[in-house]
Amino acid sequence: MYIELNDKELEFFKKIGMAATQLQLPVFLIGGFVRDKIIGRATKDADIVCLGDGIALAHAVAKQFKPKPNVAYFKNFGTAQIKLSDGFEIEFVGARKESYRANSRKPEVMPGTLEDDQNRRDFTINALAISLNEADFGRLIDPFNGEEHIAQRIIKTPLAPSETFSDDPLRMMRAIRFATQLQFTIADETFTAIQQNAERIKIVSQERITDELNKIMLSARPSIGLDLLSRSGLLQIIFPQMMALHGAEYVEGKGHKDNFYHTLQVIDNIARHTNDLWMRWAALLHDIGKPATKRFEEGHGFTFHGHEVVGERMVPKIFNRLKLPLNEKMRFVQKLVALHLRPISLTRENITDSAIRRLLFDAGEDIEALMMLCEADITSKNKQKVVRYLQNFEMVRERMKEVEEKDHLRNWQPPISGELIMETFGLGPSKQVGIIKDAIREAILDGVIENTYESAYTFMLQKAGELNLQPI
Ligand code: ATP
Repeated sequence: MYIELNDKELEFFKKIGMAATQLQLPVFLIGGFVRDKIIGRATKDADIVCLGDGIALAHAVAKQFKPKPNVAYFKNFGTAQIKLSDGFEIEFVGARKESYRANSRKPEVMPGTLEDDQNRRDFTINALAISLNEADFGRLIDPFNGEEHIAQRIIKTPLAPSETFSDDPLRMMRAIRFATQLQFTIADETFTAIQQNAERIKIVSQERITDELNKIMLSARPSIGLDLLSRSGLLQIIFPQMMALHGAEYVEGKGHKDNFYHTLQVIDNIARHTNDLWMRWAALLHDIGKPATKRFEEGHGFTFHGHEVVGERMVPKIFNRLKLPLNEKMRFVQKLVALHLRPISLTRENITDSAIRRLLFDAGEDIEALMMLCEADITSKNKQKVVRYLQNFEMVRERMKEVEEKDHLRNWQPPISGELIMETFGLGPSKQVGIIKDAIREAILDGVIENTYESAYTFMLQKAGELNLQPI
């Protein structure tokens, strides 16, 4: 056996072999499962290909189990699926041959040999098959040197790369995704073919593109994929706002850093601390407003005033275009983009409690996420500077803790509600209620009054008096 299987997998694959013998169908384990086992990476789903009817095979396999697992099948596609109790999923399909037309991603599909089936696979490392037939159980069938390419850590197409990518342009995204996840190199001629076919990505649905982009974002080092996307020409097509971050400029001896490579570093930094996809998107987008706000100020240098506000406004447009969810996840990303400079402004000396209180109020339960982003945003090459900046943030954290212990501001709601204001002064929903409510909140955040019901109530009476309102 070329790959190491656990007892359960071995038992399962033997049963598939037996069922296939009964049906007299040659059967093989193929694709990602074989690749990941050779690499030693955690495997989840297994793909089985047989020379014949995959659905019939799945039913025959299911019969070998007690209790018999459910077989989900799709007649139109000729595929069937068995889910085992521990979540392991096996997909069955008959070997096929595909031929593509230029104007469509949808190939014509017809039954084929194992070789045909391996030919239609995207990369040599994904085209490895293992026989499950009783006569040669465990034999590796590797027509394109996939095993060697795994050892060399190379991504390469089995057939001519240009044709492979032109037939199904999603494969360009997949090549870059695998290069990122596995930290493999894309072979030169394969990468050149991606550059030549980049425009064809336009015929792929946004959902599938974004799916791959998210997988890149969730890798240990997303920068690998984002840089490849940029160099291949794909990023310019699928996410031009990110390409606009490129470039470091010098005027009169004053320059600014390249915001594209800075952003990549920030994402890699964040990736070391969290697997949360939305934290990673926040890192990717934190400076997205910089190109639009870049100015050169005489004698001073480049500035990006207001880039956090512009960035916050760009987030919904980008999420919409990329078909990312327009929900609380997006609002979380927006909030982090909007607030990412605030903790830095609190690292100066003589910061008042009220400035700290305001940030706690504005960030609410996302304050930890914000601090994590700010720490990831430190990309200076000067080690002493990095240490100093981190210490500064540590001080901000301590100050926040003090203020938080005093005022309990996390998820804070002012002690006087709009309803109470309406009841007290006999008002309906109106502008005046808003004015009083905001004034109470501001007074507490500014430390003018204490964060208690009594002081807020007294302040409410006073503020209402200024508006000529009396309690009823
Ligand atoms: P992962 O599970 O990490 O996505 P995988 O390789 O298992 O990796 P799947 O999308 O499940 O990816 O695909 C299973 C197999 O099907 C692949 O290993 C590959 O052989 C083949 N395959 C998938 N998509 C394509 C494609 N667009 N073009 C050619 N072959 C593909």
